[in-house]
Amino acid sequence: MHIHALTTGTVTVTTRWQSGSGSYPGRLLRALADPHHTEPLPIWCFVIPHPDGLIVVDSGIPHNANQPVWFPPHMRLVQRAARFQITGPQDEIGPQMRALGFDPTDVRQVVLTHLHQDHDGGLHHFPNAEFLVARAEWRAAQGISGSMAGYLRQRWPADFQPKTIDFAEPDAIFGGRATLTRDGSVYLVPTPGHTPGHLSVIVQQGDHALFIAGDTSYTQAALLGDQLDGVSRSGQLAHQTHGRIRAFARQQPTVYMPAHEWASRDRLAAREALPAGV
Ligand SMILES: [Zn+2]
Repeated sequence: MHIHALTTGTVTVTTRWQSGSGSYPGRLLRALADPHHTEPLPIWCFVIPHPDGLIVVDSGIPHNANQPVWFPPHMRLVQRAARFQITGPQDEIGPQMRALGFDPTDVRQVVLTHLHQDHDGGLHHFPNAEFLVARAEWRAAQGISGSMAGYLRQRWPADFQPKTIDFAEPDAIFGGRATLTRDGSVYLVPTPGHTPGHLSVIVQQGDHALFIAGDTSYTQAALLGDQLDGVSRSGQLAHQTHGRIRAFARQQPTVYMPAHEWASRDRLAAREALPAGV
């Protein structure tokens, strides 16, 4: 099973968005006010050609990601602090999958690690897929509080109604899981912190695991250093999630792949695991 990583454009964030300090909301305000930006970072999506059917994890940004939509006033600051670069429709996830020989209409399941705009921007490419979102994430995105928290529901397809995940199966480390495939090799675990209902995807391959991490941390170094980003509302949950991922990686070789680190693709290609004794 050859798993593909593809990036739909890039994103630059402020350095204090990528690596925050102090407690919320001061940490967020410092991230929004920081004049310094990172280099362009990837927005990884993953294509898993499982025998049960094609699975896609996250869907990137649309080509009009920088066009203004209705925002609560503070979202102007978010737009300044996190800027997208994408050249046109051919950079969206659908055309990129076709270039790799996959037909997006064949995709059986689209897993969304969370509902931020750089992960849910390609939903329209998958007319036949079931969309999977953690129940806590779906709830967090609703209503005024969801809008204030930056969820852009107005960009979702009008009929977007994902299947919500409750992680009802036992899992000793993450407290629950949801298995996607009959062979048990692909499953979802709750990894809250960056958002209230963030999830990660684990693909078991032989003696090692691929950990598709979304935004649990922006880099592997941040995971190892238990470094918070600038925008996670609950630092406590983010720290707990970091600890659980490291506990998982102590049990078996684990290839850790955050959505916004270039090295994720290299680690996938080389099956380069987190250091032993992490
Ligand atoms: Zn993201």
